[in-house]
Amino acid sequence: MVSSGNVQSDLSSVKSSFEKYSSTVSDMSSSWKGNSYDNFNSKAESFNSEFLGQIESCMSNFASACDLYEQYKNTKDNLNIARSNYNTAVAAGESTSTFSSQISSYESKMSDLKNQINKLLDQVKGVKLTATSLNPSSSDVGGSVKVSSGAQDPNLIYTDDGYVFPFAKGISAPVTSSVGPRNQPTAGASTNHKGTDIGVPEGTEVHSMSGGTITNAGRGDAGGYGNWVRVQHDDGTVALYGHLSKSDYYGVGDRVEAGDLIALTGNEGVSTGPHLHFQIETTDGEILNSENIFDGYWPS
Ligand SMILES: [Zn+2]
Repeated sequence: MVSSGNVQSDLSSVKSSFEKYSSTVSDMSSSWKGNSYDNFNSKAESFNSEFLGQIESCMSNFASACDLYEQYKNTKDNLNIARSNYNTAVAAGESTSTFSSQISSYESKMSDLKNQINKLLDQVKGVKLTATSLNPSSSDVGGSVKVSSGAQDPNLIYTDDGYVFPFAKGISAPVTSSVGPRNQPTAGASTNHKGTDIGVPEGTEVHSMSGGTITNAGRGDAGGYGNWVRVQHDDGTVALYGHLSKSDYYGVGDRVEAGDLIALTGNEGVSTGPHLHFQIETTDGEILNSENIFDGYWPS
């Protein structure tokens, strides 16, 4: 016969292995990146809590059943004593009424306990250890799942400082307007250019130059940049990518890593042709020159 204590300890070890599993899933999910991966992340967390909740409810019902079984065994011992006393009384020709009422009371209590135990065990057996929350469809994970490994993407250009050039290898990236004073190229454009304009075809993929948090994404009032994305990097620099045709891969507050695809170039806002306005500054707003940061790495 199982004792309540043993079962509790068996179930505790099951629970600890599931907790271990849970933390593994949690570690794994935190390394998933992007909107679709955030979605996966929250699903994984729901999955864990649902799964552990089921285990805990299972344990609790099982432990209650074991406790009731202890009562059942005690009642059975009492029943045997009452039956023995009854037989002794019969043999001695004495009154049996006390013992017969004890016998009927113990029998009734045992039947009641048995029903309660079976009900609890049915509940335990009825728990299917599956979680409905973890069912990521292919659209949830975007069909292009990747896990952050810290490895460099061989298609991208990395500086020794770990910065990633916004365009992949093999894409011609001529500078059409540098940082600094300039003649106004079109009405509404700046005469003191804060970024570097790079002439690339509309729809060219833009990769985040560093890891950080998206602080702006979409159409804004940022001086004629049309669609734009702004990333606050971990190292205190900020990058702004302007005139984009697509800027909603990520939302404000989302985490991106160096090299993540964050936008597509366009010809939005105050612009004389398809190009990327690539602006790098410090958190205090001091303009940095991307041509210096990517000096030696800039493809012609
Ligand atoms: Zn510009």
